[in-house]
Amino acid sequence: MPGGIKRAVLLGPQGSGKSTQSRMIAEALGVDVISASRILKDIVQRETDMGKRIKKLMDGGSMIPDTHMINLMLEELRAPVCRSGFLLDGFPRNIVQAHALEESCGVEKVFSIEISDEEAIKRMKGRRICNNRHVFHVDFKPPQKEGVCDICQLPLHQREDDKPEAVRKRLANYHQDTEKLLQYYEKQNKLVVFDGEQPIEDVSNTILDYLKNNA
Ligand SMILES: [Zn+2]
Repeated sequence: MPGGIKRAVLLGPQGSGKSTQSRMIAEALGVDVISASRILKDIVQRETDMGKRIKKLMDGGSMIPDTHMINLMLEELRAPVCRSGFLLDGFPRNIVQAHALEESCGVEKVFSIEISDEEAIKRMKGRRICNNRHVFHVDFKPPQKEGVCDICQLPLHQREDDKPEAVRKRLANYHQDTEKLLQYYEKQNKLVVFDGEQPIEDVSNTILDYLKNNA
């Protein structure tokens, strides 16, 4: 890919297909996805002091304070990673975090996959999961036998987090935080918006076309 975007951010609400698209975009750019939620999960599993503090916050349903989030992410984005490139998923989440990122590596492009709240809620509502965390979807990825996991045969259920009220609440938070973020990157001419309401493969193709012509 000529020249190449090497440092990018991916934004998108739940249900936008962001994690599928993140893998595809990272591969096209030849970089790794750096996922904030994976980093948080890792640190909680390692049970360091910071990990224990973060687990307590997450269990209590609290947001991780910006200072913790920034320290953790900038630790990942050390000089070699800045040079080789990355696609950030789940960071920055707000303008404070965006400023911190700008002062360290900086980014070249910010991709935002947008869908309406109603579509996001509709998509999340169809998610089903077993106790081994295998994920299905009643419309997009139905199990062979209704209500039963294809992989481990355990019953499938809907997570509380995927129910419309919970999703609506998280979407409101998402919009509140990202609105300023979008404006910030728009002003810097870094923002590229994709319509996420098409089927996932069509969104992928639109993004890949863009990357072919611009990356
Ligand atoms: Zn299963």
